[in-house]
Amino acid sequence: MGRLNGKTALVTGSSRGMGRATAIRLAREGALVAVHYTNGKEAAEDVVATIEKDGGRAFAVRAELGVTGDVHELFLGLERGLKDRTGTTELNILVNNAGVMGGVAAEDTTPEQFDRLYAVNAKAPFFIIQRALKNMPNGGRIINISSGLTKVANPEEIAYAMTKGAVEQLALHFAKLLGPRNITINSVAPGITRNGNPAFDIPEVVDQMAALSAFNRVGEPQDVADVVAFLATDDARWITGAFLDATGGTLLG
Ligand code: NDP
Repeated sequence: MGRLNGKTALVTGSSRGMGRATAIRLAREGALVAVHYTNGKEAAEDVVATIEKDGGRAFAVRAELGVTGDVHELFLGLERGLKDRTGTTELNILVNNAGVMGGVAAEDTTPEQFDRLYAVNAKAPFFIIQRALKNMPNGGRIINISSGLTKVANPEEIAYAMTKGAVEQLALHFAKLLGPRNITINSVAPGITRNGNPAFDIPEVVDQMAALSAFNRVGEPQDVADVVAFLATDDARWITGAFLDATGGTLLG
């Protein structure tokens, strides 16, 4: 019996990377999962098929985040998918995972790039939480994906790190607001974690990235997905407003 049987979950940006691994992990625990994507329709459908092959339940929802009407579009698809499958629009678990990296030096960052990073990484999670709270019963779970870059310096990613600093404020302040509803909200900070970036195909680069972790390897999406899944369960009911270091010891220095 899965620990999330009867629960519903939305994982933003779950067509790839950690979001994908998280969607699969939550579904394996019994949750019905909304697999959110923007451009990766086929990839999202593949996540749904993988979950269903495993005996789980999922459906795909498209919405581009960081543009006008994004949250409205997301919840139209989400509520339709939930209603069709459960008869209600109740959402128990929200994972704000979708994000974009900067990769631009501070001196070259334009106001437009800065606004885009904020719109996708920080503004969208705030308004998704605001909207999700209408659907979330007592005992719900909100998990926001931050980054170890809020604690270690990387001059190539100043604007990006600023957005993740903002994301961490969500857990601190919403935790107090939502405590009376027994809703927990926490930040999970991954370190360097394998995704579709071509850098992960270059062994020397991977070796350099691995050396940053106490375990001398880069993170796998499942490493982070397992932490998120724990926070989504009843076992984590006493943790709220927290910052969880899921960097594989990178922050130890
Ligand atoms: P990926 O780059 O592999 O995937 C990003 C996901 O987000 C995709 O599903 C993508 O959808 C979705 N997405 C991107 N932009 C938008 C948008 N504007 N609107 C809606 N969806 C969008 O992600 P990672 O697994 O690398 O990262 C996941 C999270 O972890 C992010 O928040 C990232 O900042 C954070 N993080 C990542 C680290 C890493 O080393 N990978 C380290 C620390 C933090 P689609 O493909 O369908 O367009």
